Amino acid sequence: MTSLSPARTGGTTGSGGGSPAERLDERLGDPDAPGTLFSYANCAVLDEREEFPARVCGLLDAMGFARNYVPAALGGDLENYQDTLQLMRVLARRDLTVAIAHGKTYLGAIAAWVGADPAQAAWLAAEVRAGRVVSWALTERDHGSDLLSGEVTAEPYAGGYRLSGEKWLINNATRGQVICVLARTGPERGPRSFGLFLVDKRRLPPGTWHPLPKVPTLGIRGADISGIAFSAAPLPGDALVGAPGAGLEIVLKSLQLTRTMCASLSLGAGDQALRLAGEFTAERRLSNRRLTEFPHTRRMIAEVFADLLLAEAVSIVGSRSVQALTGELSVVSAVTKYLVPTIVDEMITTSRDILGARALLTGVHAHGTFQKLERDHRIVAIFDGSAHVNLASLITQFPAIARAHRDGLTDEAGLAEAVTLSGPLRGLDTGRLRLMTRTGCSLLSGLPADFGAASLPAAVRPLAARLCEISAALHRELAEVRPSSDAMPAEAFSLAERYTVCYAGAACLWLWSRNRRWAASSAVSALWSDGRWLDACLRRVLARLGDTPPGGDDVFDGLHEVLVRRRDAGHLPSLLPHRLAGGDVPWEEGR
Ligand SMILES: Cc1cc2nc3c(=O)[nH]c(=O)nc-3n(C[C@H](O)[C@H](O)[C@H](O)COP(=O)(O)OP(=O)(O)OC[C@H]3O[C@@H](n4cnc5c(N)ncnc54)[C@H](O)[C@@H]3O)c2cc1C
Repeated sequence: MTSLSPARTGGTTGSGGGSPAERLDERLGDPDAPGTLFSYANCAVLDEREEFPARVCGLLDAMGFARNYVPAALGGDLENYQDTLQLMRVLARRDLTVAIAHGKTYLGAIAAWVGADPAQAAWLAAEVRAGRVVSWALTERDHGSDLLSGEVTAEPYAGGYRLSGEKWLINNATRGQVICVLARTGPERGPRSFGLFLVDKRRLPPGTWHPLPKVPTLGIRGADISGIAFSAAPLPGDALVGAPGAGLEIVLKSLQLTRTMCASLSLGAGDQALRLAGEFTAERRLSNRRLTEFPHTRRMIAEVFADLLLAEAVSIVGSRSVQALTGELSVVSAVTKYLVPTIVDEMITTSRDILGARALLTGVHAHGTFQKLERDHRIVAIFDGSAHVNLASLITQFPAIARAHRDGLTDEAGLAEAVTLSGPLRGLDTGRLRLMTRTGCSLLSGLPADFGAASLPAAVRPLAARLCEISAALHRELAEVRPSSDAMPAEAFSLAERYTVCYAGAACLWLWSRNRRWAASSAVSALWSDGRWLDACLRRVLARLGDTPPGGDDVFDGLHEVLVRRRDAGHLPSLLPHRLAGGDVPWEEGR
């Protein structure tokens, strides 16, 4: 097996054989080529048949891809969350069903990396490395995101537990060998009444459990979305992860890691949307002109590209923050899980407008991939915490966020690590995860009012200054909110949405200012030169904040030009260097 192990700095170099993500892409082969197993065409056929992508998952297993779900300290390749984000994005860029079906094991195992004792963690690590499927069962039919109302019970019995009840809408509940189950261990309502159990289905006596039927879904149709019912299923005492009563806390901390990494699914979907819309505008002729020759269409494509870069900036900083700003991940993960799928949903909507009728046709254009993408991506905003859940989580943290901002409290070393792409990342210490941030959010608290006035390109300075003003005013508003879990004020949700957008703008500013020298000598230099992408992204940020800056035609035209050049040279449209396997279909040359 060729190792897919990550580079310490986050796979940004693109040299010496490429980043781990480039190498994976290369090994998977050209997704447009007829002989490639993990191809767009094959995935479209499987979706049509609602068939589980077993052969593609088998290919990933044969490559040892699941090693990326296991921390290096436990014998896996998971060392750097930014690399894992980009690796998962490679899968999602080809097909979300595969990424979600295979990647579920990462979600299922994560609670063990956060809360299990060394022996349990080592056992699960060996299972995952050997290709066993692990699923994660939190949700119940009558209690979606309301985990506190869960009714599955684990009753203490003969030194172990007896597990009873039903978990429903569980990814890989039927196919998985191991399932990590959140269950009530005490009758009283409250966060300390739950335990988390690693349930090895292979060891359960027959008749004590059964899988529930596959639930037909609008998107990711081939995935095993089913459930599992237990009836006094006996569990050994060592199935319990962490201390008795600590189950919900472990889940909430683990969700910070999974919510951040869900961004990889949306980024891959965003890559697909841009690819499909871009290729279409290059080949479609109307009134004897190609669609790209219409300024409005070019602008739409450029805005979709700018939004992808914005989502990518948030995701890169988020994934690096897992290690660099672990104590603030309660904020960072909620921002990332709310904003990245939201932006990509909007990109998909704009791409649908561009594609017109072909967005709706199943077999006519590009294997009908677009209508599949549109259906598939809808799930990302729902599972692992809906938009509402993530915004509510931010609202409960408003007091700490506002206080840290007022006092200028910033973890400077952590911030520098999170935003400096060529720098090393410390190892993840899960002991530093907090249910609520104590230090606010360094990315925004550390944003000086005159951010890099001298070092930013002249055209970008007024945009940056405006963002800093809006962010300062917003933080004053956050300080006025008194969150209560009983009734969150409705206006607080729009403040939380605005907060996530300010975070995105700050991520762009930090990334550009800390990496422009590195980028100048990399394969992405054209995108970074003169702050081209930064200008476009800040315009998109300000527009989202209701403050659309004047002009911008030249900025977006310039961005469109870079996009086309990068695509025609066989590179992924991204802030980071990434040569595509097969290069994809050119948009300009040879047409
Ligand atoms: C394809 C798929 C795969 C899944 N895989 C898994 C899995 O592997 N493991 C697992 O455990 N679960 C899984 N789920 C379940 C998923 O996590 C839940 O569906 C999700 O938590 C949301 O729950 P819900 O939509 O059922 O509804 P609810 O939580 O009942 O929410 C309904 C609506 O109310 C909103 N809402 C929620 N709380 C509040 C509130 N306090 N105030 C006001 N509005 C609120 C929500 O945002 C939503 O709009 C999966 C679901 C799907 C569709």
